[in-house]
Amino acid sequence: MATVTEEFGSMVFDDRVMRATLPAKVYASLKKTIDEGKELDLTVANAVASAMKDWAVARGATHYTHWFQPLTGVTAEKHDSFITPAPDGGVIMEFSGKELIKGEPDASSFPSGGLRATFEARGYTAWDPTSYAFIKGKTLCIPTAFCSYGGEALDKKTPLLRSMEALNVQALRILKLFGNDTVKRVTTSVGPEQEYFLVDREMYNKRKDLIYTGRTLFGAKPPKGQEMDDHYFGVIKPRVAAFMEDLNEELWKLGILAKTEHNEVAPAQHELAPIYTTTNIATDHNQLTMEIMQKVASRHGLVCLLHEKPFAGVNGSGKHNNWSIGTDSGQNLLSPGETPYENAQFLLFLCAVIKAVDDYQDLLRIAVATAGNDHRLGANEAPPAVVSVFLGDELNAVLEAIENDTPYSGAERKQMKLGSDVLPKFNRDTTDRNRTSPFAFTGNKFEFRMLGSSNSIACANIMLNAAVAESLKIYSDALESADDFETALHELIRDTIKAHKRIIFNGNGYDDSWIKEATEKRGLCNYRTTADCMPHLLDDKNVKMLTSHKVYSEAELRSRCEIMLENYCKTVVIEANTMVDMVKKQILPAVSGYASELAETIGKKLSLGSDISCGYEKATVKKLSLLADQIAEYTSELEAALLKLKTSDDICEEAYAIRDTVLGEMSKLRIVCDEAETATSEKYWPFPTYGELLFGVK
Ligand code: ADP
Ligand code: MG
Repeated sequence: MATVTEEFGSMVFDDRVMRATLPAKVYASLKKTIDEGKELDLTVANAVASAMKDWAVARGATHYTHWFQPLTGVTAEKHDSFITPAPDGGVIMEFSGKELIKGEPDASSFPSGGLRATFEARGYTAWDPTSYAFIKGKTLCIPTAFCSYGGEALDKKTPLLRSMEALNVQALRILKLFGNDTVKRVTTSVGPEQEYFLVDREMYNKRKDLIYTGRTLFGAKPPKGQEMDDHYFGVIKPRVAAFMEDLNEELWKLGILAKTEHNEVAPAQHELAPIYTTTNIATDHNQLTMEIMQKVASRHGLVCLLHEKPFAGVNGSGKHNNWSIGTDSGQNLLSPGETPYENAQFLLFLCAVIKAVDDYQDLLRIAVATAGNDHRLGANEAPPAVVSVFLGDELNAVLEAIENDTPYSGAERKQMKLGSDVLPKFNRDTTDRNRTSPFAFTGNKFEFRMLGSSNSIACANIMLNAAVAESLKIYSDALESADDFETALHELIRDTIKAHKRIIFNGNGYDDSWIKEATEKRGLCNYRTTADCMPHLLDDKNVKMLTSHKVYSEAELRSRCEIMLENYCKTVVIEANTMVDMVKKQILPAVSGYASELAETIGKKLSLGSDISCGYEKATVKKLSLLADQIAEYTSELEAALLKLKTSDDICEEAYAIRDTVLGEMSKLRIVCDEAETATSEKYWPFPTYGELLFGVK
């Protein structure tokens, strides 16, 4: 059997393979494209394509696809085979540079939010050489960007690459000011921790809500939930362990650095974390990870649920986006340094992030907004919908000292002036972990914790990179024109702390008093739902910032806003329709069926003698009948709310109506159905219960 080191990346056309299979000149030219973004000429592309094809065919591939990330949130692929007819009636395997660089999938069914008229259905895909090609099954997958013929991005990768470039440009300006002329490139890195649930496939197949919506829309609380805290980091059950082993192997073959895995807080909930890597690769890898989790689960008779809130009453699933900024020479710009001078640079980058998060808190909230994630944020388990930054005690003390020009009470007790030799060296604070903060500094990186488990991490990183690029731009403009660099630097840092300290919060983010303070005293945004936050994507300040760094055009932003709101509306409408269907075809027949069995029993018992009371049966029949009537009534009310939606042709109006009416009707209906479940015989209940789903995998 192959060892892990042999197996790792065996299905990836990575640097090792390129070096081994490409002529030296071609390799050098491709490397320049990858590392420095230089354009690739067609002769090089032809040579790369040919080597890629030979390598893939030798590993059993018959097809290739441009692999991309349309705005649906999942990945897309259209397979073409390598075969080309040969004059002798046979076939040869061919793949040209042109086919590698550009593809033209029929794009008419991908959402474009009005960017592409249907008569101009075609979009094109363009190779992203910075993310390696890989083999999945029998197909060579080429990571690509996806654009319309007008050049507008129809995907998530294009704006992500643009945001990385924006940050690179601005960070280089800052580094230059600190005397660093040798750095060529600044990139952001991400390590996303992915949470998920595993349930038994047979049980899953009996639940229309899971099949159609990915979450349970009904389900009474089981006698046991997560209250014993006995699942978190607990012993992994054999079926789950077999799944994880298989999953790791698949991910390793694709060069994905799956590293840690453990049980999470809720029963049946688990987590996988990879080792961090460049943001666009981490994004591709996370998409692949989610896809492969589902595939591998199915091989084990399981279903992997990536929904943010598959079960009410137990924790939902999120994704922690661990994010840092580093140079091509390996320096982490979010790591406190060894010298005061390095520390001044670190503090400036730290301030850039603090300012970015405060100025663009709405964009960070928008980046994680989906109907699914709305169930988590603010529900006392995930960070609240209010964005704030956690820094830890030590850094906090440093910033306070700078703000007030007071002595820093750390080890060296020096005046906190940012001169070349007066800023004390301080240690990175690794002990203090705050699990309730949406945006926590963890020693040498920030951990953005608001992402939902099914979100593409692209969106959060686009906004984060762009907002930090904007802070850095403002800083560079000020510093480049300053007469005295050190004074200007000191003022910038002090002024940033003064202006943005409202976003810093080191207490318990789950506390109700914090939400009150955040919104009433500090004026922070609290957008509870997607409908509340999404329209702010088009606020002037946001459009200005994102277009000025060329991360999005205004048309692209409008299209995204529309698509995200549409997605929100469609998701909830599908859920509501599924509820109506389950109630009418499964729940009401079950409740009424059990009541009728009891009624028959009453009849039979009474025939034995009128002195038999049948108190229990009568009370239960009465209760079930009342509940059934209520269920029927609330179902009609939900249907009426859904019908009313159709009268609106404005997507914002529709989203507000969903927030204000449909979601409320759904909760009302659920409560009575769950109560009916607790009063109905197991024999009659039409689908697996919470207890069975959550504790069913051994
Ligand atoms: P936790 O306690 O939250 O599980 P870990 O230290 O295990 O934290 O790291 C979680 C994730 O953070 C991993 O994916 C890891 O690779 C990533 N990570 C570590 N250092 C960095 C960094 N400098 N930049 C980005 N991600 C990082
Ligand atoms: Mg974490």
